[in-house]
Amino acid sequence: MNPLSQLPSVDRLLSAAPLAALVDLHGRAVVTAMVRDVLAATRAAMKDGAPLPDEAGLLEKVGAGVTAKMRPGLRPVFNLTGTVLHTNLGRAPLPEEAVQALIAAARSPCALEYDIDSGGRGDRDDIVNELLCELTGAEAATVVNNNAAAVFLLLNTLAQKQQVIVSRGELIEIGGAFRVPDIMSRAGAKLVEVGTTNRTHLKDFAENITPRTAMLMKVHASNYAISGFTHAVPEAELAALAHQHDLPFVVDLGSGTLADLAAWGLPHEPTPAEAIAAGADLVTFSGDKLLGGPQAGLLVGRKDLIARIKKNPLKRCLRVGKLTLAALEAVLALYRDPDRLHLRVTAVRQLTRPEAAIRAAAERLLPALQNALAGLPVTAEIVALKSQIGSGSLPVDRLPSAGFAIRPQARRGGVLNRIEAALRGIAHPLRPVIGRIEDGALRLDLRCLDEGDEAAFAATLAALVVKP
Ligand SMILES: *Cc1c(COP(=O)(O)O)cnc(C)c1O
Repeated sequence: MNPLSQLPSVDRLLSAAPLAALVDLHGRAVVTAMVRDVLAATRAAMKDGAPLPDEAGLLEKVGAGVTAKMRPGLRPVFNLTGTVLHTNLGRAPLPEEAVQALIAAARSPCALEYDIDSGGRGDRDDIVNELLCELTGAEAATVVNNNAAAVFLLLNTLAQKQQVIVSRGELIEIGGAFRVPDIMSRAGAKLVEVGTTNRTHLKDFAENITPRTAMLMKVHASNYAISGFTHAVPEAELAALAHQHDLPFVVDLGSGTLADLAAWGLPHEPTPAEAIAAGADLVTFSGDKLLGGPQAGLLVGRKDLIARIKKNPLKRCLRVGKLTLAALEAVLALYRDPDRLHLRVTAVRQLTRPEAAIRAAAERLLPALQNALAGLPVTAEIVALKSQIGSGSLPVDRLPSAGFAIRPQARRGGVLNRIEAALRGIAHPLRPVIGRIEDGALRLDLRCLDEGDEAAFAATLAALVVKP
């Protein structure tokens, strides 16, 4: 008898109890398609000589296939990498106020471009315009998809077919795709680089101003630092030079925190308010870096220049949606109360979290980790760590932190890689745990594990299965 004819039918498998439950959960179409796929693959394997599998094995394959297929791609994770604003992990987690505002805006119609007072048409930028002006000292503001878009739109509006003068020390690349010279040429502007990598002087700018110059620009170096024999021209001097020639002076700040982080013992990061006060005509910065909000690019500055930027048809292509504006408004509102920022803005709270509090969390969680790793040839202990801010902010500064170091007892065996993979591969709906292997240890930095998440983290550890 042909063994292929002994394979169960699609209907028979579908009516088995485990699959009936999956049909309830995900619908008939997905489960039926997976049954067909598994049967086809089994038939092909049997033609190559594989034995007839038992029905339980087939059901298990279908179940695993459906579960993997229906798992969401955008899964929440535990960020224990030690990098707070981790671009690949979505940068700043939103404060609860922003999450609630975002949900409310998502659920129901909202006054996105509607003036409730007059009943007439509104402007979506007006939702955050006043807050941004108040917090930066600017005359006007507009919002686009991210800071790269903000820089692009600014250059395309004000410098198309003209020249933009930038110091050679500021021609940076950020996270692969954002490179100042490339953005400049795509925006239609001609880059004029002046000075040298380490030193640029006011006369380097002055000597290069021509009738074709559209603006002087300063780009915050963000993700690298030059030290030693260096010189950069202070913003106030660049602004004065630009204004003498009737040109705008623009600053791409990158991170652009709205509060002075030095108040919490963090290094000082330049703020948009400082740049505006120094004479900048336009400043751009990110919504989801040190600001701690949603992904967005914020442009603040002179009213006439913002008006021109808003008239560029590309603004329509780069604008943000209601979810972003809802979250952004809620986060900006928290900045009206600087005294409690470190409690309410999640990113600021995580960045300013005292080392002792992180170590105390490690002490609470060590038993759960040791239980999860029992029987494996490793040691797990609490260690001092150094967190990074991330997203190109304050690249040379490290924050004293604490967490776990898991080390193999023997040199060989790849056990660390197996533990790292098991933490990452934890089954949905539990959250994958993302750590870092470095210098022969798997490190889990607990800075970004909020206290309210400790129980969920312990439950995740309890479910850990490390493959032999
Ligand atoms: C991060 C950064 C950008 C890009 O901002 P996104 O919000 O990631 O698009 C541009 N310029 C500077 C100086 C930056 O630090």
